[in-house]
Amino acid sequence: MLVVCMGLLNKESKDKKTKYQKLEEKLALKKKSAWDQFTDRQKKDAFRLCDDYKSFLDNAKTEREAVKEIEAFAKKKGFSGIGEAKELTPGSRVYDTYRNKNAALVIAGKKPITEGARIIVSHIDSPRLDLKPHPLYEDSGLAMLKTHYYGGIKKYQWVNRPFALHGVVTKKDGKTIDIVIGESEKDPVFVISDLLIHLSKNSQDKRLASEAIKGEELNLIVANIPVDDDKVKHKVKLAVLEHLYDKYGIVEEDFVSAELEAVPAGISKDVGFDRSLIGAYGQDDKVCAFASLIASDSVKIPEHTTIVLFYDKEEIGSVGNTGARSNYIEYIVSRILELSGNAASDSIVREALMKSSALSADVSAAVNPTFKEAHDIFNSNFCGFGALLEKYNGYGGKYSASDASAEYTGRIRKILNDNKIPWQIGELGKVDEGGGSTIAIFFSNYSMDIIDLGVPVLGMHSPFEIVSKADMYSAYLAYVAFLES
Ligand code: MN
Ligand code: MN
Repeated sequence: MLVVCMGLLNKESKDKKTKYQKLEEKLALKKKSAWDQFTDRQKKDAFRLCDDYKSFLDNAKTEREAVKEIEAFAKKKGFSGIGEAKELTPGSRVYDTYRNKNAALVIAGKKPITEGARIIVSHIDSPRLDLKPHPLYEDSGLAMLKTHYYGGIKKYQWVNRPFALHGVVTKKDGKTIDIVIGESEKDPVFVISDLLIHLSKNSQDKRLASEAIKGEELNLIVANIPVDDDKVKHKVKLAVLEHLYDKYGIVEEDFVSAELEAVPAGISKDVGFDRSLIGAYGQDDKVCAFASLIASDSVKIPEHTTIVLFYDKEEIGSVGNTGARSNYIEYIVSRILELSGNAASDSIVREALMKSSALSADVSAAVNPTFKEAHDIFNSNFCGFGALLEKYNGYGGKYSASDASAEYTGRIRKILNDNKIPWQIGELGKVDEGGGSTIAIFFSNYSMDIIDLGVPVLGMHSPFEIVSKADMYSAYLAYVAFLES
């Protein structure tokens, strides 16, 4: 009897919150894992969505392949070509692709686009090794391909692993052919071979990590068997040319007009006993591209016109005619205006863009528990804690940052909270530790509101980047809520 009473007393005093516990609950921000916030059904949905995402990753390693996947998705979901469309009424769906490297999916809103659109912009290029214009040579009994790295990579991460070649070659006759070698089970792969440990003591071991593998050392091994003719000087190289000619009709000069990209071979994988994470090449920024692609279809008849955009060349500064600094967005908005029966004058296009709200959908760093010293742990993003907001990025004293206003950040935060979407906010890393920026700065040139909303990644720009399924799903939910706002 006595024991039971004591138990009750203890329980009562445990349940009763102190004044300051209550105050803490009311005032202090609590970080909570997205996994703890999701219902069981949401967890299942997250896993299901990520199965589709893994297929997307495997089929869309390059920007061109991503555009093909996006176009196929758009057609399946009832989007018609923006060129063929006659008019737009609320709920009309149109899409566009450009130079096989840009894409846009549009759903006309109830309000005219002159009241602003809801724009999500991501990029579909990823760091990789491009073949040089004269890539093929022979050395020490091996045929090799010289590469030029694209985007920021820690070069030592890209050696001793299987590579596939993806891309296009425009031949002498002007015809362009697609090439993918190294992805199917039976395909051969290619490799950059690092120096063996036994011989690196006095040379390579003394280099800085940033120079452990130098740019000119990123040479792929592609063949070993020579042609049987002693009168030929580069017999292994010629054997490769013979093979390429027989299989694809390519001659050496065709490399000049080619875009052949060496990317990590193989498929995406679940990571962890609980399969809660995804490991794959190119998740920066296919994770946001895929989440926004699926979100673009989840919206039925939005208040504001939705525009989901996919750009190339982000990894080298959003430059070029397919990067986010090009005027593709102006073209898309002009077309929407024309199809809605408006004159697409310069001033109206500008007004529509100025009144638009945008999300720059890109990844940022997740805290790596082994390298926590790079992060300000109070202002960092964590795997599995939801979609990440980044009010600004850039480097040093916020140089090259698009710093979203308090008002706009507040608006987005409210959308996330109202829809119970797990989210977090942080900076890329410690102040002055490094830095980076993405598409937001270029879209902010149109004077629109824009903020980064994406997914935290471990091992960004490595051949095997890691993303939590909870974060990918949170980003998807966030994009839908934003497009519907
Ligand atoms: Mn990115
Ligand atoms: Mn990147």
